[in-house]
Amino acid sequence: MNRDDASLPGAIPEGAELPDLRFMRAALEEAARAHAAGEVPVGAVVVLNGEIVGRGWNRPIGSHDPSAHAEIGALRDAAARLGNYRLPGCELYVTLEPCAMCAGAIQHARIARVVWGAADPKTGACGSVVDLFAEPRLNHHARSVGGVMAAECAGTLQAFFAERRALARARREQGGGPAAPASAASRPGGPGHRAEPDDPARTIDPA
Ligand SMILES: [Zn+2]
Repeated sequence: MNRDDASLPGAIPEGAELPDLRFMRAALEEAARAHAAGEVPVGAVVVLNGEIVGRGWNRPIGSHDPSAHAEIGALRDAAARLGNYRLPGCELYVTLEPCAMCAGAIQHARIARVVWGAADPKTGACGSVVDLFAEPRLNHHARSVGGVMAAECAGTLQAFFAERRALARARREQGGGPAAPASAASRPGGPGHRAEPDDPARTIDPA
């Protein structure tokens, strides 16, 4: 693919490879699972030798676990499957730029390469806020490639937040009418809280 097309949806940015699109699509499938559960839609997969060995999706609310980001889920799944707490030679694909917690876990796991989709200007630790993979004082350096299918990955998040805003609007217009169906999304501290502009949790809510 022509590098000049890097701004187009689905384009391959510098440092990315053609198989990256296939695995980012798999990560987007995981993000859809988060969306269906009312969680901010972020998904991740771990790949070894061209095969998916771990999957994870963002689920901190439903699991009552602040560390339950998609990357952590995918790392745990891969480590359990491979029977090793270290994952040398593995690649991790995630639809949103990893935060500092996940970047740390990725380094502890000895992941060789991280491929992420949309940038996260609020908590991104791969260049947006800090770049932990470029920090020379940290002893493990995964290669980090960002912006793969960025438009699709960001669109997934934007669609989620747009739905949430429409739902909130509908509730207001009903004057506090019937309660929404029970889900993680409707609980106190649910993604509505995570979508607040000053919320430190990961979100690229465009509103
Ligand atoms: Zn994270």
